[in-house]
Amino acid sequence: MNGEAVAAPQKRMPIFTRSVKGKFRRFKWGMLVLAYAVYFLLPWLPWAREGGPSQPILFDIPGRRFYVFDLVMYPQDVLWLAMLLFIAAVFLFFVTGLVGRAFCGYYCFQTLWTDFFIWIESKIQGERPARIRLHKQPWNAEKALKLGATHVAWLLLSFWTAFTFVVYYAPADQLLREFFIGTAPPAAYMTAGILTLATYLAAGFMREQICAFVCPYGRFQSVMYAPQTLAVHYDVRRGEGEKGRLVPRQGLKTLEERHAQGHGDCVDCGYCVQVCPAGIDIRDGLQYRCISCGLCIDACNQIMDSAGFPRGLIRYDSEENLARPVPAKPHVELRNFRVIGYGIALALMIGFLVYNIATHQPLAVVVNQVRQPLYTTLANGDVRDAYHIRITNSSRRDEVYAISAQGLPVGALQLAFHEVPIKTGRSVEVYAWVRLGPQQAAEISRFHFVVTPRSEPDKAWTGVARFFSAAGEADGDNE
Ligand code: SF4
Ligand code: SF4
Repeated sequence: MNGEAVAAPQKRMPIFTRSVKGKFRRFKWGMLVLAYAVYFLLPWLPWAREGGPSQPILFDIPGRRFYVFDLVMYPQDVLWLAMLLFIAAVFLFFVTGLVGRAFCGYYCFQTLWTDFFIWIESKIQGERPARIRLHKQPWNAEKALKLGATHVAWLLLSFWTAFTFVVYYAPADQLLREFFIGTAPPAAYMTAGILTLATYLAAGFMREQICAFVCPYGRFQSVMYAPQTLAVHYDVRRGEGEKGRLVPRQGLKTLEERHAQGHGDCVDCGYCVQVCPAGIDIRDGLQYRCISCGLCIDACNQIMDSAGFPRGLIRYDSEENLARPVPAKPHVELRNFRVIGYGIALALMIGFLVYNIATHQPLAVVVNQVRQPLYTTLANGDVRDAYHIRITNSSRRDEVYAISAQGLPVGALQLAFHEVPIKTGRSVEVYAWVRLGPQQAAEISRFHFVVTPRSEPDKAWTGVARFFSAAGEADGDNE
């Protein structure tokens, strides 16, 4: 990447991109359709789930449960979410090490929504020259109509994007009904309003400014580049020759003529600049604003085809390959220490997450000893310790749990409830006391609590607990 300084945000000059055809453009459309289909359709698909909502993904904040297909996550499973975020970050580093900022160019939400906004703009206002003309012309009926229609379409898409986001946090059918008759929770209207505005501004107005000045990834992605990393490059030696690029003219139309006179293959048509959503000229070298979308490759290939020159003047290539006297065919290079490191970290984290989910227990119990006081000596010399037992039903159905103890004499365990019914995903706290005679208190320092699900006794939880008394501790409180 060249050593240009990161410029401060300035007054934005609107970029009017020109349409282009080619394999990268088709790939981008494919990714957009896939991403939109997943994002917009997922909340509305039916999903059979015992004792839960019938939509595939639901982040039930009031119920403190996240439903992701057949996986149900509770607050205590927050580790999974943290792991997922780590995996996503390392995967991003891994991809960047291989193919540069490809994520930005093809799958980032900012790119996908900006792309679709530009498509709407071009369908209503016309191709690049028509849009530039419209922008420059004074206000009249045509301008008001076309710009008005564009902004209405942008706002509708922004609203549906925002509403879909909200639907991931509430039962979709119910929210749809309530939202439009005005009885949905205020948080739903607020979130939808803020996100509508954010989408409209980010994809309609700020566009490439978000990638250049707001997104932190754009700033630090260069540290993940290695000389072997593929990125969109202009082949300077081929494009410029000895005497530079030149518009074709008489005697400078064929490759032989151009090369004989020291000129490169770039015919300085500017098409690669006109299609660039970042508004840059890739011929100035790799730049931090470039999102590796490949549209300039499509544009240049089109020009090369029409001139009868070989394709690939702009291409995905690595700095290492371009520096060779005769560059080889560009390819994804896995033998790169950084990429190997990211790959190993990724495999380890995915393995840990899968193991964690596969061995997930449907019952979580936490026993805390009451420490104020640590123990109580009763008038007859008996010693009593108190405990809080928090039981969480992480299974998919309501359950009744029986609480007992092992390693204590009969009658030593006193409970507020011996059996507790707990709804799926909920927690209940139970108080327990253990009372031992002076002799037993001197002998018993540990015992086990046992929590048994009534419907699955073989899945009982057993956990060790300590018994404190004057025999084991120097101080205590007398009743
Ligand atoms: S320079 Fe090329 S790859 Fe980079 S953002 Fe512009 S069009 Fe996309
Ligand atoms: S599209 Fe290709 S030929 Fe045209 S200016 Fe860009 S690099 Fe040169």
